Amino acid sequence: MGDAQLSIVAGALYVVATPIGNLGDMPPRAVAVLRGVALIAAEDTRHSAPLLRHFAIATPLSALHEHNERQQTEKLVARLRAGEAIALISDAGTPLLSDPGYHLVRAAHQAGLRVIPLPGACAAIAALSASGLPTDRFSFEGFLSAKAAARRARLSELQADTRTLIFYEAPHRISAALDDMAEIFGAGREAVLARELTKLYETVRAAPLAELAEWVRGDAHQQKGEIVVLVRGAAARPPEALGEEAQRVLRLLLAALPLKQAVALAAEITGEKRNRLYERAVEMKAAGGDE
Ligand code: SAM
Repeated sequence: MGDAQLSIVAGALYVVATPIGNLGDMPPRAVAVLRGVALIAAEDTRHSAPLLRHFAIATPLSALHEHNERQQTEKLVARLRAGEAIALISDAGTPLLSDPGYHLVRAAHQAGLRVIPLPGACAAIAALSASGLPTDRFSFEGFLSAKAAARRARLSELQADTRTLIFYEAPHRISAALDDMAEIFGAGREAVLARELTKLYETVRAAPLAELAEWVRGDAHQQKGEIVVLVRGAAARPPEALGEEAQRVLRLLLAALPLKQAVALAAEITGEKRNRLYERAVEMKAAGGDE
């Protein structure tokens, strides 16, 4: 063990993670397995070809994508049964995570075949590890629906979930998705945008949802590339109301300063949590000074 020179298990399906942008993240064991198997089932053979060329992997490729997975599975299982080792890869990261492979892995189990994972990059886990949000319990939500009504319905279902929520989102929908999250989860709910991880323009930014949404809306660069959004889970119990004095300080500061500055200063003066003050400040603003 510990040596990339490994022997390939006959008739095994290897589920192999590949980098999410940075070729330096290709695990040596993945290279050895991809060189050693009889066939690589890839989500998009044209997409994977440069990666395989880079690592001098000359193994034959066959396509396994969402449109042909069920039909290909039968053929691949037959080859596995005949003793060939096959590796499954996707365009980036860990197969099956918002990527094809579920039917194949399930069929391999049902056929009593060995399934061997080769761990490596996964955008959701990389983002979570750098997010500063609780990691003890989290829910991987994958992509929200492209349709606004279905997206909002799903977000409403998740509104009271106390686990950290992890979403993949397309760049052209990120602004609308963050707006919906701010509205449904609350403007002050803590969130993180993790964009272009392991690549040149890597960005990890934490802010309350309304602030994050505003920042993304105002900066076209943040609406490009590959994006993970993480949202802190709902508070387990409704937070205690802010004390009278903290509210008085916040109200005075809000009358004279922009919201962000008022919240920061109020947090310093009162010692109250920034998030709670932010939520209260948004409520006060919405009430238009009627409180
Ligand atoms: N299987 C992959 C994984 O393990 O992360 C994910 C595949 S899914 C089709 C692609 C989505 O993953 C992107 O739209 C984005 O949300 C996220 N993603 C992939 N690479 C990323 C990166 N380098 N930085 C941020 N998000 C990324």
